[in-house]
Amino acid sequence: MRVGFALKVEDIASFYGVKYEKISFRDAKSRWGSCSARKNLSFSSRLVGAPKSVIEYVVIHEICHLRELNHSHRFWAHVATLIPAYKESEAWLKENGRLLFLY
Ligand SMILES: [Zn+2]
Repeated sequence: MRVGFALKVEDIASFYGVKYEKISFRDAKSRWGSCSARKNLSFSSRLVGAPKSVIEYVVIHEICHLRELNHSHRFWAHVATLIPAYKESEAWLKENGRLLFLY
C-alpha cells in the first residue's frame, strides 16, 4: 500500500508541478497528513481505509501546503481549484475519521 500511496503522491505532485523532499508514513492518530517547512510530506498510514477521493484530498491538501504553509484564504482557494468538492472529503473525515483508528 505504501508504495502505491507514494506513487500517487508523486503523480499528483508532478501533475501540479510541485516538488517535495520526501514522503513518510506514520501510524499517526492525530493528523492525516503534514507538511514541514523543509518540504517533507508525511501521511497517516490509517488513511488506507479511507475512500479514494478522501485519500486524494489529503494528498492534495498537503501538496498545497508546499506552496502555502498555512490555512489562509489563499490556501483554501488553492485547494478548491484543485478539488472543487473538497468539503465532502473534509466532512467524511470528520464523521468517519475515528473509525479508521479502531483497528
Ligand atoms: Zn493543512
